[in-house]
Amino acid sequence: MELRKDPITRSWVITGDEPEPLFDHDAFCPFCPESPKQAQLITMLSSVNAGPWSARAVVHPTPLYRVEGDPGRRGDGLYDNMRTIGAHEVLVENPRHDRHLWNADDSEIEQFLLLCAQRMHDLKGDRRFKYVSLFKNHGSNAGQEFDHPTSQIVATTFVPRRVLYELRAGRDYFAQKERCVFCDILHQELQTAKRIVEVRGDFVAGCPYAPRAPYETWITPKTHEAFFERFALGRNANLRELAALIRRTLTRIRNVADGFHLILHSAPNTTHRSEVLGYWKTIDDDYHWHIEILPILPNKPQSYTFKEVYFSPVSSESAAARLREMQVYP
Ligand SMILES: [Zn+2]
Ligand SMILES: [Zn+2]
Ligand SMILES: [Zn+2]
Repeated sequence: MELRKDPITRSWVITGDEPEPLFDHDAFCPFCPESPKQAQLITMLSSVNAGPWSARAVVHPTPLYRVEGDPGRRGDGLYDNMRTIGAHEVLVENPRHDRHLWNADDSEIEQFLLLCAQRMHDLKGDRRFKYVSLFKNHGSNAGQEFDHPTSQIVATTFVPRRVLYELRAGRDYFAQKERCVFCDILHQELQTAKRIVEVRGDFVAGCPYAPRAPYETWITPKTHEAFFERFALGRNANLRELAALIRRTLTRIRNVADGFHLILHSAPNTTHRSEVLGYWKTIDDDYHWHIEILPILPNKPQSYTFKEVYFSPVSSESAAARLREMQVYP
């Protein structure tokens, strides 16, 4: 596998002929504590509910990226490519095979969020990595890989396209108005309240004005901060509150869709400042971390396959109203 850059859109893709999968899905779960076939441990957090541990990071059994070596950036005529250098880890959300982010205790989800922050911070210590992505794919039509409740973290030598769009947009808005576009959106959304699903302390769950998928929901902190890990590892972080809102929002979303993508967007690795691209000069002020949840509805394939223009047959106002009305315990 290798990374190739699209010369027109400038986005990187990972491509190549995939080798036969070595990972045996029918065998023991490699993430359960009692499994005889354990994945390679990176770090783990101590138990909060009498389990052996609360959350832990392991090496992905079939990683897309490899840690060793340098990216070997090179040209091929007008094209660019590089090796798939990076880190690819599985974050085990809970030792129990049946405790998901929507039915675990908030104290357990809090530990998982702490693990996410620790891994992001640690991986950004490596100057080769420009971005650290954190995501969860749940449901077979969302590309879920493992039965055990897991998320994945990927450190790459480039900034993924969608994040690059956001970074450029945030930087341009700030250059014009000297304000954060995310803060401005949140302020207006809280005033109209039409697309707000729930407010929990400092965190707001709401449907974006122009959704890419029906019931798309974002969780955004009211307090401005570009880096998730800086917030989460800070002294005043209320991760318990965020954990509760994630649990409650996923409970709501699972009433309309079984599958979803969850993506955490944080600022890129600024120890690797790029003079040429220049988008890190005002990053502390112009970017704002957030979580995006993209549900995958059954029988609505056109909204996902026809991506030249996103099509969402449910308005965000109706989606937010329906999500708000759902019963969530406690
Ligand atoms: Zn398991
Ligand atoms: Zn902001
Ligand atoms: Zn985003």
